[in-house]
Amino acid sequence: MEKVIIIRFGEIFLKGKNRDYFESLLIKNIKHSLKDFSYEFRRSQGRYFIENYAEVNEPEILDAVKKVFGVYSVSVAYKVETLYSQGFTDVKSKAVVLAASAEAKGAKTFRVSVKRADKRIPMTSMQISAEIGGAVLEAVRLKVDLYNFDAEICVDIREDGYAFVYSGVEMAVGGLPVGCSDKGMLLLSGGIDSPIAAYMMAKRGMKLFAIHFSSPPYTSDLAKDKVVALRNIVSKYCTDIKLFVVPFTEIQLAIHEKCPAEFMITIMRRIMMRIAERLAVQNECGALITGESLGQVASQTLSSINCTNSVVKIPVLRPLIGLDKEEIMDKAKKIGTYETSILPYEDCCTVFLPKNPATRPKLSVVENAESALDLNELIDNALKNVEVL
Ligand code: ATP
Ligand code: MG
Repeated sequence: MEKVIIIRFGEIFLKGKNRDYFESLLIKNIKHSLKDFSYEFRRSQGRYFIENYAEVNEPEILDAVKKVFGVYSVSVAYKVETLYSQGFTDVKSKAVVLAASAEAKGAKTFRVSVKRADKRIPMTSMQISAEIGGAVLEAVRLKVDLYNFDAEICVDIREDGYAFVYSGVEMAVGGLPVGCSDKGMLLLSGGIDSPIAAYMMAKRGMKLFAIHFSSPPYTSDLAKDKVVALRNIVSKYCTDIKLFVVPFTEIQLAIHEKCPAEFMITIMRRIMMRIAERLAVQNECGALITGESLGQVASQTLSSINCTNSVVKIPVLRPLIGLDKEEIMDKAKKIGTYETSILPYEDCCTVFLPKNPATRPKLSVVENAESALDLNELIDNALKNVEVL
């Protein structure tokens, strides 16, 4: 096939000794994202090329590649012979095809940008641009504008006698290849925030595991399915996420029975953090990740965060801490989790929700309230019945 997908990655993280390591991760992740397609992968001159794929799969392949962290941009290009001695005939005809399609989409102006790696050709890039631009001008009604152009037709003339002809560059997600920054354990609820927290840490190269607390029969199977669906959406960006579902009903009932209602949520969160830390250590995760944002609700004031943070030793990463709900919702819509997150199924946190949760819980008072519980037994029991998905 004459079309290829060009994949560009950021150069910043590829400097120095780690280059091979980063690249091998990135290539592995790209191939993983394309596991359902047939294609050929080629690496050349600091770029990757997806070749010989079925044209019907092109939109899906593009979509998948653009979600791989570490990929900065992609282009779909025609690969043709340069044919300098014949006046770049094939390059010109593809340039005309791209210009006509831009015109059909409403473009009024264009420019041609040529990069010439093949130094055997005795013309400058500018001269080649002018020649190809001339052919385009004859074929369509677009006008040339080198600065305020609606469409850019790019021609990369390579040393091997081939040229790539494409219009424009589509931005991908950027970031670092997943796997280059240790592992993290995400506390995944069914809400809007925690999937976005996952996305943001995966973007910085973290390999993720997730833990969800569910309280059957107070929470339904539908609530659990929703969490699995969210896990699946986020997995498209960051390779598969192993999900641990921890039964939380017994713990909630015990808190409800033995502790003051105003500390219910704080104590629940403290136990969640302890369990999450245990599973994190077992799975060699160096951090916990939550979707907390400062002041969003009573359990996310600094006093509440202090109470929940103090029960664990490993770092707790809160990538959304300074974002507004609106900003988080915008991200959720872009990433594709929003519609699932707003499905109306009960979360364990809404079971036995007190009317007036403490907004400024004091650590010593909470510790005292919590001492009514047999924590070790409750936690061991919950961990015995973890379901792995
Ligand atoms: P989210 O939209 O992520 O549910 P939220 O605004 O509802 O967040 P909280 O319910 O206070 O906020 O939860 C704060 C964080 O605690 C969540 O982002 C998540 O990381 C964690 N968390 C809450 N409930 C659960 C749960 N049932 N299972 C796992 N983690 C949870
Ligand atoms: Mg929630």
